[in-house]
Amino acid sequence: MSTLVINDLHVSVETDQGTKHILKGVDLTLEQGSIHAIMGPNGSGKSTLAYTIAGHPKYHVESGSVKLDGEEVLDMSVDARARAGIFLAMQYPVEIPGVTVSNFLRTAKTAIDGEAPALRPWLKEIRGSMEALRMDKTFAERNVNEGFSGGEKKRHEILQLELLKPRFAVLDETDSGLDVDALKIVSEGVNRAKANTGLGVLLITHYTRILRYIHPDFVHVFVDGRVAEEGGPELADRLENEGYDRYLTGTSVG
Ligand code: ADP
Ligand code: MG
Ligand code: MG
Repeated sequence: MSTLVINDLHVSVETDQGTKHILKGVDLTLEQGSIHAIMGPNGSGKSTLAYTIAGHPKYHVESGSVKLDGEEVLDMSVDARARAGIFLAMQYPVEIPGVTVSNFLRTAKTAIDGEAPALRPWLKEIRGSMEALRMDKTFAERNVNEGFSGGEKKRHEILQLELLKPRFAVLDETDSGLDVDALKIVSEGVNRAKANTGLGVLLITHYTRILRYIHPDFVHVFVDGRVAEEGGPELADRLENEGYDRYLTGTSVG
């Protein structure tokens, strides 16, 4: 079982107004095979945490570490992070003009495994996963994210997750903009990946809605750049009823 350990992580970005400190000492331990929900108000730094794990150049790590089984992820190139088994689904995925879903997936799989997948079993696997995600066959020949609806973008992310078989997935606001049917399909995909491959999930969400379909083992409440409270699924129920007010009041007083 792999673990991903984030220790006292401080991250800033450069803005026109100067250096903005966003993450202010994040401590978080993720276990493979478990679903960890990160919940928090807008602007608390959730996406910054995801981008930092992804290696986005804009986010400057001032101190702290992110270790996958003891190895420093922050020292790895973006490619090396993917090869190490870390998968990131961003809140705003980018278009890749001229690259089809089918080619993109095969290229990604080849890069991660270090060799091209055998063609027939690979095509069979893609078909199976696309059917499970209720995706039309023609989807494989479309350009990545070009003109995709919100639901198609999310399905495409989960398709990658199922085919690339990472150890950990960071899903940033995967629930945003999904209707209930799409939310169910996407959630089933995440649950399948957990059951089939022992995926560990960092599920970033502002709302509790997705947690009706993806049941977290642990809930971490994120406020003002750090983890303010941790608990089990009951914490999500409390947030559903009470919102984030108690934490925000706490920060303005303290
Ligand atoms: P969340 O995902 O929890 O809503 P973010 O990580 O997106 O929070 O943002 C945290 C804070 O950092 C916000 O105040 C946001 O405006 C600021 N921030 C994030 N990224 C940048 C950036 N690239 N440039 C300037 N400010 C940023
Ligand atoms: Mg936000
Ligand atoms: Mg965000």
